[in-house]
Amino acid sequence: RAKEQGGNTYQLYRSEMNMRSLERLNLEIDLRKAMDRGEISLHYQPIVDLATGDVYGMEALLRWKHATRGMVSPGEFIPLAEETGLIVPIGNWVLYESCRQNREWTDRGFPPLVVAVNISVNQFQQPGFVQLVQETLERTGLDPKQLCLEITENVAMRNVNSMIETIAKLRELGVQISIDDFGTGYSSLSYLKRFRVHTLKIDQSFIKELTTDEENAAIVTALIAMSHQLNIKALAEGVETKAQLEFLRRFGCDEIQGYLFSTPLPADEFERMMRTRRNLSEVLP
Ligand code: C2E
Ligand code: MG
Ligand code: MG
Ligand code: MG
Repeated sequence: RAKEQGGNTYQLYRSEMNMRSLERLNLEIDLRKAMDRGEISLHYQPIVDLATGDVYGMEALLRWKHATRGMVSPGEFIPLAEETGLIVPIGNWVLYESCRQNREWTDRGFPPLVVAVNISVNQFQQPGFVQLVQETLERTGLDPKQLCLEITENVAMRNVNSMIETIAKLRELGVQISIDDFGTGYSSLSYLKRFRVHTLKIDQSFIKELTTDEENAAIVTALIAMSHQLNIKALAEGVETKAQLEFLRRFGCDEIQGYLFSTPLPADEFERMMRTRRNLSEVLP
C-alpha cells in the first residue's frame, strides 16, 4: 500500500511537472512571437539627481503585453528569455530602442538624459557585444555619455577576465557602466575593485526597511561611503517614502529611483512628466 501511494505521489508529481513544462513551453513559443506581434515595449523610470533634484536619466524596463494573459512581468519572462537564448535578440532590440528614444528626446530639446539599459550576462558575454554597442550608438546618433549599461552581479558570471576587458572597452567608447542590485549577488566587493564601474545601484531590499531596520541603515550608509571612496556614484533603488529620501540625502547618496518620484512610464507619459514635473521639489513641496 505504501508502495502504491508512493507510486501515486510520483505520478502526481510527474503530471504536475509536465503541466509546468507545458506551460513554460507555451510561454516560450509566445515569447518568440511577441516581438513580431508588437507585444513588447519599454517603460522608462526616472532617475533623479539628489544634489539638484533634476531628472538625470531613466531606466528602460521591458514590458510584455500578452494577447490573452495580459501583462507578464519581467520577473517571469526574463529568466525564460535567458534560458532559451531569446534574451539576445530581445536585448539587442531594447538597446537599440532605448538609444533611439533617448536621442529623439535630446533632439526635441529635453536636457540631455542618460538612459540605463539592463544587460543580461549572456548578452554581455556574446562575441562582438562591444561592436554592437558602438554600431547602435552610430546608427542612432546617441552621444555615448548618454548611455549606461547595467550589469547584475550573478552566479552566471563566468570568465571574469573577459568581463573586465569588455568593461574597459566600453569605457573607452565613453559609455557608462553600473552594477545593478548590488549586495544581493556574489563576491560583490572583489568585483567592485576589478570592474571599473561608474555607478553602484544599491538593491531595493536594503532600501525597503532603511528607516525601520538598523542593520539595513548601517549597510546602506556603508555602501554609500565605500562607493565614494572608490570614486563611484551611489544610486538607491526602490525609494518609496519621504523618510527614505531624507535618510539617503543625509548620507550623500547621489541618485534615487523609485515610486516616490515616479513608477516606470510608457514613453508618452515619460515625456509628459518631463514637461510638467521634472524636479523632485515639485513632487515633495
Ligand atoms: P531591475 O533592473 O533591478 O529594475 C528595477 C525594478 O524595480 C523594476 O521592476 C521596477 O519597476 C521596480 N521598481 C522601481 N521602483 C520601485 C519601487 O519604488 N518599489 C518597488 N517595489 N519596485 C520598484 P520590473 O520592471 O518588474 O523589472 C524587474 C527586473 O527585470 C529588472 O530589475 C531587471 O533585472 C529585469 N529587466 C527588466 N527589463 C529588462 C531588460 O530590458 N533586459 C534585461 N536583461 N532585464 C530586464
Ligand atoms: Mg536595472
Ligand atoms: Mg536593480
Ligand atoms: Mg532590482
